[in-house]
Amino acid sequence: MKKRILLVEPDFPIPIKSKNHKNFLPIGLLKIASYLRSKGIEVKLVRGITKGITDLDILSFNPQEVWITSLFTYWAKYVKDAVRHYKHVFPNAKIVVGGIYASFMPDHCKKFTGCDEVKEGVLHEAEKYFPAYDLITNANPHPIDYQIIHTSRGCIRNCEFCGVKKIEPNFKPKSSVKEEIKKRKVVFYDNNFLANTHIEDILRELIDLKKRKKILWCESQSGFDGRVLKERPYLGELLKKVGFRDPRIAWDWGYGQFQEIEEQIGILRTGGYNSQDIYVFMLYNWEIPFEEMERKRIKCWEWKVQIADCRYRPLDQTFDEYNPWKKDQTKEDYHIHTEAGWTDALVKQFRKNVRRQNICVRHSFPFFSNVFEKKRVEKEVIRAAKLIKTKEEKIRYLQQIQADYWFPDEITYP
Ligand code: SF4
Repeated sequence: MKKRILLVEPDFPIPIKSKNHKNFLPIGLLKIASYLRSKGIEVKLVRGITKGITDLDILSFNPQEVWITSLFTYWAKYVKDAVRHYKHVFPNAKIVVGGIYASFMPDHCKKFTGCDEVKEGVLHEAEKYFPAYDLITNANPHPIDYQIIHTSRGCIRNCEFCGVKKIEPNFKPKSSVKEEIKKRKVVFYDNNFLANTHIEDILRELIDLKKRKKILWCESQSGFDGRVLKERPYLGELLKKVGFRDPRIAWDWGYGQFQEIEEQIGILRTGGYNSQDIYVFMLYNWEIPFEEMERKRIKCWEWKVQIADCRYRPLDQTFDEYNPWKKDQTKEDYHIHTEAGWTDALVKQFRKNVRRQNICVRHSFPFFSNVFEKKRVEKEVIRAAKLIKTKEEKIRYLQQIQADYWFPDEITYP
């Protein structure tokens, strides 16, 4: 009789519409599934906690082991819920937890979730297997028409806020990926795609596949390493030729770095990208105080690039009850970096400013207005407001028609 292992993705707070989105697919479990199948082990995948009719199918599967994945440390409680649930359903099965949280905080994971075993790091044997996409049975609302691959594991850098070094301590680049490409939409999950020593060869093979219409577009889940781009600026053009969408670079440190970031953006623009399609990654609620982050935001406005903002949480944060609609949240609810002067109100204000600014950049619009966004005014009014030359005149006009307005070019406090 075949051995049976149930693979579980806990009920993470991912909106239903994003479940099969390329950022949220349990790709590690899908590779492990293929690996286990190759060893003659029967597998099933459950996403969330089984309920109702699905229980029957899973109950009759009656696995000897349940392997549960984990993600961010601050989503630990969902892993705990999954362990409790499957321990209750299969009291004789061994419950194993792996993934990011398990690797970062193995002792906490063991104690907090009550699992039988913690597996740390990447299961390297599974890495060479093509993910078992067939296990994603509910392809609504996003069919899996894309493929996730890695050209490297690990990273050459060691940024203090990043945990890659702990989970993937050694940088392991591949020299070719063309044989792995099976779908026309390709998402690279590398931590640092450009750091691969064979990057030029890889980009050239991708360009060849693109020319032969085997590739429609590519995306990199992480940002491109701007320092590598500066050392080898011709890579900007190669990325564009491959069809990489929405390229992102990171601006982690202070405002003083702006010339360097401007050069990196310039390389992407010379490569053929429009500034509106370029994103600058920014970590906020971290060491850079609010006002300086606002100056960075305004620089991005001048460059007309979008911002991919990321709220900082320490690597060992085990909860996150951040609620954008709730006022006066505290450190009891989520991590607020008070050490650098951040408050709940500043965190929410920065997020709000970035959102409004990105809308302006995307639509090449000089200001943001709620009534305009919700289309509560005629198109002609919107057009007229855009055509008015100076900011002062615009404000007068908006006041006349009693529309709210926000201009991205000034620091905006709560
Ligand atoms: S470059 Fe990116 S992946 Fe590498 S250590 Fe820094 S943040 Fe992490």
